[in-house]
Amino acid sequence: MDDYDVIVVGASIAGCTAATAYGRAGLRVAVVERHRSPQAHKTLCGHFVLGGTHDVLQRLGFWQPMVTRGAAVTTGLGMWTEHGWIVPRPDSGVPPAISLRRSKLDPLLREIAAATPGVDLMLGHRVVGLVQDRAGGVRGVVTANGTAGPTELRARLVVGADGHHSTVARLAEVPEDHAPNERFLFWTYYEGATMNGPGDGQVWPVGRDVAVCIRVDDGLTQVGVFPAKDRLPEFTDDRQGAFDRFVAHLPDRPSLDGARQVSNLIGTTDYPCIRRDLTPLPGLVLIGDAATSSDPVPAVGCGWAFRSAAWLADATAEPLAWGHDLRQGLRSYRRAHRFIDKYDALGRREARARPPSALQRAIRTAAVSDPDIARRLAAFAMRAAPPSVLLNPGVMIRAAVGPRAPDLEARRPATPARQPTVPR
Ligand SMILES: Cc1cc2nc3c(=O)[nH]c(=O)nc-3n(C[C@H](O)[C@H](O)[C@H](O)COP(=O)(O)OP(=O)(O)OC[C@H]3O[C@@H](n4cnc5c(N)ncnc54)[C@H](O)[C@@H]3O)c2cc1C
Repeated sequence: MDDYDVIVVGASIAGCTAATAYGRAGLRVAVVERHRSPQAHKTLCGHFVLGGTHDVLQRLGFWQPMVTRGAAVTTGLGMWTEHGWIVPRPDSGVPPAISLRRSKLDPLLREIAAATPGVDLMLGHRVVGLVQDRAGGVRGVVTANGTAGPTELRARLVVGADGHHSTVARLAEVPEDHAPNERFLFWTYYEGATMNGPGDGQVWPVGRDVAVCIRVDDGLTQVGVFPAKDRLPEFTDDRQGAFDRFVAHLPDRPSLDGARQVSNLIGTTDYPCIRRDLTPLPGLVLIGDAATSSDPVPAVGCGWAFRSAAWLADATAEPLAWGHDLRQGLRSYRRAHRFIDKYDALGRREARARPPSALQRAIRTAAVSDPDIARRLAAFAMRAAPPSVLLNPGVMIRAAVGPRAPDLEARRPATPARQPTVPR
């Protein structure tokens, strides 16, 4: 008999979400994490979780504990354009985003997973090998735990939730599809900063560069810059000075005089996009960054980790509980994941940091004065509906011709909160 129904590798966003959902479905789950401390957390993450994840966070009961730990909720981001601000409307129906620093979020998710009946949280266990049958199917993992000898764990399904550099994927020799990222990024946190743009956060797409200002937990304000890589030499010579100059030139920038910068600059100069086959071998499935590690600029990764984990559990908990064939469930997971795949394809193009296309410029300009296009743009930016909410012929014609053009989309309501469902 297997030791568990499911082994989840990685106890971070994707792993804890999957483990919690499987445990609640009555399964026996091992969640294996290389870090020893329950307080361990990812440091290289801007932790802004887009509104499209709101439903999943509510359904899993994560939203309220995040708020209780101090998370900041953002109901509408203002977007700067050279023709004025796109101002978020309170009645847009676009779900709110949430931000809790990973130093609080990761321990919280681990706490919730560990308290779920059926879930064994195994800290300090680094996966170093896979248990495979003669046909190559994955039957379990081998972990190393400090000086103790290797431990073999077996289960019907191994879930790789071990991030961007997934060890599980490497051990299974899963090919990686890389795409370059032509921007780099740095951010920091301020106490006592005041926002001057509209909404409860702002984003500035300025030429090939992007900047953001977001509220986070503990009343802090996060300011981040995502310049195209041709500006890298400025930041190499004097990182803080270049950051300060960048922010000082933003229109309606936040007031930082008298504010206290409470962290060093955090960021990276290169972060390529990676995607891998979701179900590379029988008995093995990938979620979160292990499956799709997207450009950090649109802040999608945490949401994808929560959502892909929830979709996988929705699709496979029942066949796992009943001992049924998993293939149909895994096909359902792949289908649900197409939502992410479509956005990732667009994100990879955006990561080339080209100047905005004529279509992007037309849509942004139209959204300044057209509330319907503004709402669609917000639903798209929050990943709260499929890309077609914005990228459709009706919006394109209306953006190109102006608000008095026949509203080809008028009969089709913008359904910003539509989520992919996992067919059973
Ligand atoms: C600079 C930057 C900024 C970002 N900003 C945002 C943002 O603002 N909003 C957003 O939504 N996303 C953002 N992201 C993306 C986000 O950080 C990731 O998408 C998210 O962390 C993915 O979660 P995950 O659970 O899949 O993987 P991870 O959070 O990477 O977790 C992987 C877990 O697996 C464990 N692990 C790894 N190897 C092993 C092993 N061999 N054995 C056992 N355990 C193992 C790790 O210790 C870790 O706990 C950003 C990313 C970067 C790089």
